[in-house]
Formats: sequence, C-alpha cells, structure tokens
Amino acid sequence: MKYDVIIIGMGPGGIYSAYELVRNNKKLKIAMFDEGHSLEKRKCPIDGERITSCIHCPTCSIMSGFGGAGAFSDGKYNITNDFGGTLYQYIGKRKALELMEYVDEINMTHGGEGTKLYSTANSQFKKICLQNDLHLLNASVRHLGTDKNYVVLTNLYNELKEKVDFYFDCKVENIEILNPGYKIITKNQEYTCDTCIVSVGRSGSKWMEKICEGIGIKTKSNRVDIGVRVEIPAEVFSHVTDELYEGKIVYRTQKYGDFVRTFCMNPYGEVVNENTNGIVTVNGHSYEDSSKKTNNTNFALLVSKEFSEPFKDSNGYGESIARLSNMLGGGVLVQRFGDVIRGQRSTEERMKSSFVVPTLNATPGDLNLVLPKRIMDGIIEMIYALDKIAPGTANDDTLLYGVEVKFYNMEVQVDKHLETKYKGLYIIGDGGGITHSLSHASASGVYVAREILEKN
Ligand SMILES: Cc1cc2nc3c(=O)[nH]c(=O)nc-3n(C[C@H](O)[C@H](O)[C@H](O)COP(=O)(O)OP(=O)(O)OC[C@H]3O[C@@H](n4cnc5c(N)ncnc54)[C@H](O)[C@@H]3O)c2cc1C
Repeated sequence: MKYDVIIIGMGPGGIYSAYELVRNNKKLKIAMFDEGHSLEKRKCPIDGERITSCIHCPTCSIMSGFGGAGAFSDGKYNITNDFGGTLYQYIGKRKALELMEYVDEINMTHGGEGTKLYSTANSQFKKICLQNDLHLLNASVRHLGTDKNYVVLTNLYNELKEKVDFYFDCKVENIEILNPGYKIITKNQEYTCDTCIVSVGRSGSKWMEKICEGIGIKTKSNRVDIGVRVEIPAEVFSHVTDELYEGKIVYRTQKYGDFVRTFCMNPYGEVVNENTNGIVTVNGHSYEDSSKKTNNTNFALLVSKEFSEPFKDSNGYGESIARLSNMLGGGVLVQRFGDVIRGQRSTEERMKSSFVVPTLNATPGDLNLVLPKRIMDGIIEMIYALDKIAPGTANDDTLLYGVEVKFYNMEVQVDKHLETKYKGLYIIGDGGGITHSLSHASASGVYVAREILEKN
C-alpha cells in the first residue's frame, strides 16, 4: 500500500495536520494509524460500580484512539505562548499564536460554536495574586468541555473519513527509512509513503524513544513535573473560575526556591484515572453541559523538577514515584489536607466524615509515604499561599489525590520545520516533546501540513 502522506497518531496533532492537508490538496493520498479505537468505541471500563479502578486495558481508552489524549480531556484550548509547550521556539511566537487562533476557528465551525473564550487580560485577579507573591500567567482559554470537544471530534472525523484511510486498533511497530520515502510496519501489514508525520503523544513516548534510537535521531530528556490533584468545593475558587475559567498560577517556594504551579483547573469537574504505559496517575476534566457538573473544582499542583547531567531519565523518576502510589493504593491514593498536616494517613472512616465528597473512587492513604519531602513541602507551601487568595483552599477536608505526574516526552531533535534529519519525516505534538497541550499540538499539526503542502 502506497500513500503520499502517512500520519501516525490520531490525537490533535495528527487530526489537524490531516484536516489542513485535505482542505488544501484533495489529491493527496493520506492514511492515519492509531493503536486505539475509533471515537465511538472508546470507553473506559471504570463504571464506579462493577469496575472501580484501572484494569489495565491493552490500549487505554482515555489516552488512545481517534482524538488521542484530547478526546476526553476538558477541551481547554489555551491560546498562549506562556505555557503548553515551546513550539514558539521553533516557529516564532507570532506564528504559533496565529496557528492556535486558526485551530480555534476550526473548532468554532465544527461544533464548538457558542462556547466561551476566557481571558486574563485586564483581570483584577492578577493584582491580587501579585500582592500575595503568586503569579498569574497570561492566556486566552477556549473551554469546549469534554462533551462539546466530542462533538467537534465527531464532525472532524465525518469530514475526514471521505478523504483519508483510517486504520484503528493498528499500532505502528516500526518506521524504516527507504530513501526516498518510508516504510510503516504494523503487525500484519507494511505500507509505504513519501512523507511521514509522527504524532504519537504521551502514550507513545517509549515507542518514540525506541524509534529515535533505532534511526539515530538525537533526543534529550531532563524535566518532569510531580504533584497532586487538589479537589475542593467549587465555591472556594468560583471568583477565579467564573472570570477566567482556569487560573494558571505560579509560586516560588520559600524553602527550596522550587516552582509550583496550578495546572488543568476543572471547575465543577471530575477527577479521573489516567493510565500511561501501565502506570495509573490522576487527571481531571469537566463538562460544558450544566447537568453533568459536580459540586467540586479540581486542579493539579505540580512541582517542576529539572535534572542536570549525567541523569537523563526524568520520566523514569516520575514513574517510580507514581509506582509507589500504585503499590500502596492499587492505583491513585487520596488524602485529606488536614491528615497530611497532622502526619496521619486518611482512612475510610476519616473520609466518611469529610465534607468534601470525592468524585474519584481512590484509596485513602498517606501521600507522605509516596512523594519526596521536597515536593510535599512545596505543595503544602503553595496550598497555604493559595489560601490567601482563595480562602478555604487549606481547609482540613481539601482532598489531595496522588500522584499526578506531568511526563515530558524526551525532546526530539527537529529543525524549524519540525522535520528530522530525514527529509519528509516530521515529528509533532506531545510525542516530539515540544508541545504539552491541545492548542500547541494542534498548531504543530497545521504548521507541518502547510510545510508539506508547499512541497506538493
Ligand atoms: C484527562 C486529560 C485531560 C486533559 N486536559 C487538557 C486540557 O484541558 N487542555 C490541554 O491543553 N491539554 C489537556 N490534556 C493534554 C492533551 O490531551 C494533550 O496535550 C494532547 O492530546 C496532545 O496531542 P497529540 O496529538 O500530541 O498526542 P495524543 O493526543 O496523545 O495522541 C497520540 C495518539 O497516538 C497514538 N499512538 C501512540 N503510539 C502509537 C503507535 N506506535 N502506533 C499507532 N498509534 C500510536 C495514541 O494511541 C494516541 O491516540 C489532557 C490530557 C488528559 C489525558
């Protein structure tokens, strides 16, 4: 089977590159591969009753399949260069913003119409943060919500399926350099193409590393963010979330000078499990539909850890910590903030007396046995700092779920076209280590598609 372009991975990076290619050149023969299922078949088996925790499916429906890790994400498209990746270092800040805005336009014409665009510009809250040694990052954020995001993905799929060959449940095992072109090897078949876009996201991180090693593409990896997901009554943060939807707030700890940040805030949302390469960590999302809203808001508190040479395996470090929580709790652990401070584990009994009702069924335990002291100290300091701008954050019943780890894929060596040393082999999205978000991954897809269109 011979294609002009093969795209590996059907996350936002892959989807928006296919969209842009199809829109501008209907003659291109394009195929997309994903190890996960089509959108309608993606279903996490955890139902809260029969199955209450991760059963380690062969491919995780939260992370894999059409829509990638973005399918059941909260659909927060942050239009900013301040966070979400370093795409701007390759393509320039103006171009990066322009592409993120273009992706927003696509979303708005494919089912996202009527969703709200929040902005930190002119927010009073910035000043209040600064007065308390906290720093609010600049962004516009389009909140699609998990439900509207699903509609957008369905519409994009329906539009693409006429022009693109989709291969679901089809893991790409290997890429061979043919010079010219590439051979894409799956379990049962081989395909060739002139151009290959690799967009395998976080779930494809280990695979990506192996491929790069095999064909001699340089990689580097030295950062991981480790922390917890905080869950509080939605009222505590409503003055922030009503105005901004999500406040990305950064704090430098007094004790160690480490940076702690809030990440992925989900007003009236749910805390969920996430399975990356067999390790269960925690994440969160929320719905746009008001009937699906909960009484709680959740967000991650992450401490950034950058290592220096000779240590290279920052993701391995994060995984080892997450494994400890899996070992003690069989998955994610939950602990009340009051118990953390008193140095005691949370128990079923203590959880029952809590005023905050957890939205994820996690095992009550002791995060002090899991997280390194430096990270735990940073989280505690940040919770007290946030309590000054959102009183109630440091209440006894505030729930901390662990472990949340933000793995950074190793950064793959690509040039300003996001092309590797092999002509026509592009690596984009989270899988290339350059982006860490929906909007940046999508923008990288459009960018590469335009590069390819210029040559065809
Ligand atoms: C629960 C959750 C909530 C999130 N919320 C937000 C949010 O609100 N805002 C935000 O900006 N970001 C959010 N994110 C992160 C966001 O989803 C990612 O940054 C984004 O999806 C990255 O896009 P991508 O295309 O690079 O990779 P992915 O979306 O990870 O897609 C990669 C695809 O490649 C496939 N793949 C991997 N290896 C292979 C292989 N060898 N062969 C075939 N297929 C393969 C995978 O199955 C996957 O479908 C969230 C993530 C999760 C899990």
